[in-house]
Amino acid sequence: MPIERTLIRASHIIAYDGKQHRYLKDGVAVYEGDTIIHVGKTFDGAVDHLVNAAGRVVTPGFIDTHIHMAGSPLDKSFIEDHGKRNFYNSGLFEMLPARSAAQDNDANHLCVEFSMAELLHTGTTCALEMGPVHAYTAEQAARFGFRAYIGPMYRSGRWYTDDGKSVKYHWDEAAGNAAFERAVTWIEQNDGAHGGLVKGFLSPAQVDTCSEALLQRTREAANRMGVPIQIHAAQSVAEFQEMVRRHGQSPIEWLRDVGLLGPDVILGHAIILAGGSWAQYAGDDIAVMAQAGCSVAHAPWVFARRGIALESFGRYLKAGVNMTLGTDTAPQSMIEAMKFAAVIGKIMDRQTEVATAADVFNAATLGGAKAIGRDDLGRIAPGAKADLVIWEGESIWMSPLRDPIKNIVFNAQAEDVKTVIVNGKTVMQDGVIPSVPDIKTLARQLQAAGARMWANIPRGDWAEREADELSPQSFALWDGA
Ligand SMILES: [Zn+2]
Repeated sequence: MPIERTLIRASHIIAYDGKQHRYLKDGVAVYEGDTIIHVGKTFDGAVDHLVNAAGRVVTPGFIDTHIHMAGSPLDKSFIEDHGKRNFYNSGLFEMLPARSAAQDNDANHLCVEFSMAELLHTGTTCALEMGPVHAYTAEQAARFGFRAYIGPMYRSGRWYTDDGKSVKYHWDEAAGNAAFERAVTWIEQNDGAHGGLVKGFLSPAQVDTCSEALLQRTREAANRMGVPIQIHAAQSVAEFQEMVRRHGQSPIEWLRDVGLLGPDVILGHAIILAGGSWAQYAGDDIAVMAQAGCSVAHAPWVFARRGIALESFGRYLKAGVNMTLGTDTAPQSMIEAMKFAAVIGKIMDRQTEVATAADVFNAATLGGAKAIGRDDLGRIAPGAKADLVIWEGESIWMSPLRDPIKNIVFNAQAEDVKTVIVNGKTVMQDGVIPSVPDIKTLARQLQAAGARMWANIPRGDWAEREADELSPQSFALWDGA
């Protein structure tokens, strides 16, 4: 059977001219099988399918470089508004362990399905998942038609607190090595599965929980396998101070000196830096990152929610750091990630002309593609994969439309995402995902999973507190009397 050709005729297309995104008015994008073969004003060849996108906007799908699908939906309604000043507002040491230990495996699976639905509804076509259920995630990626980079996490130790004041570490080097070997085997067996939809990457969990030896093994494996690396780093003041105490260096300087950093490395967060105001520690970590050619997965919302912000999107970009965007927590919406990255970037620099709509849209598309070494993603150009989003252009949020990128970054809502195509396959049509037609059923299942988790919170909390004690209701319950 010949490969089928589809032509989308749209009022607005964000096309790629070989160097950068461009705004094409009244044009066509044509793909054959999983690959874009043409974008321009017109197309002369024969086509099998015609998509009329009059009044609509066609963009490349977003690449979410930092995500925990198996957990994030259950962050909602629990982790907001509470963080301890002892941990410099970070939720990593008290809130995260409490909720993670309370979540069961059925909930992990359900969260993966819920997340994929959420991601497609917000225009994301590719994500880098770090989570506990990689085989299930790969299966679901195939079912949803979602492009998933999966990084089975491993580490030599874990943090904990037993007093709510200090962070302690429990080390098990052998367990870390075994988990690393399982991750390598899993990636070797699954990289490129399901027609290339599933890819692997190495994910040493956090800078403060991985030994030098484990990171060196990671570097060797990445060189040998040609897969990207992502590690959480510079994500809390407590972590920064721990690395200074251990090594007399910032987390990013230490990663450079153990030989991990390089163009294939994505640093999850990279907010607490030498040379920044959060750490108040001399040095220039932005220059270290730029020199190493590494990427930052910037997830603005998970930090902004606790009063923490990157300093600053504009400064990183100007220094030459490859900026990408992630969601990390709920909601898993790259529309919101772009909006927060832009607005917070302006606030931090006290300047309007930085962290522009173009900057954050580039980070959400081309930046993400560069971070994973893919010049065939994040763009609408001949030879690129057909990962496309068709947006409503005539809606409350998108009208009037003069600059589609400003509208998408500053005004669009998830409901403006109408149709999503991944690898040449329509995976969401007019707001409906054929493999999951009933979001309400998923929502009810998530509610039940949440109820189980909230009841189990004392089991995961060091002080065995109830959910309502750790995270009080916004308004006290009332029996109506
Ligand atoms: Zn993370």
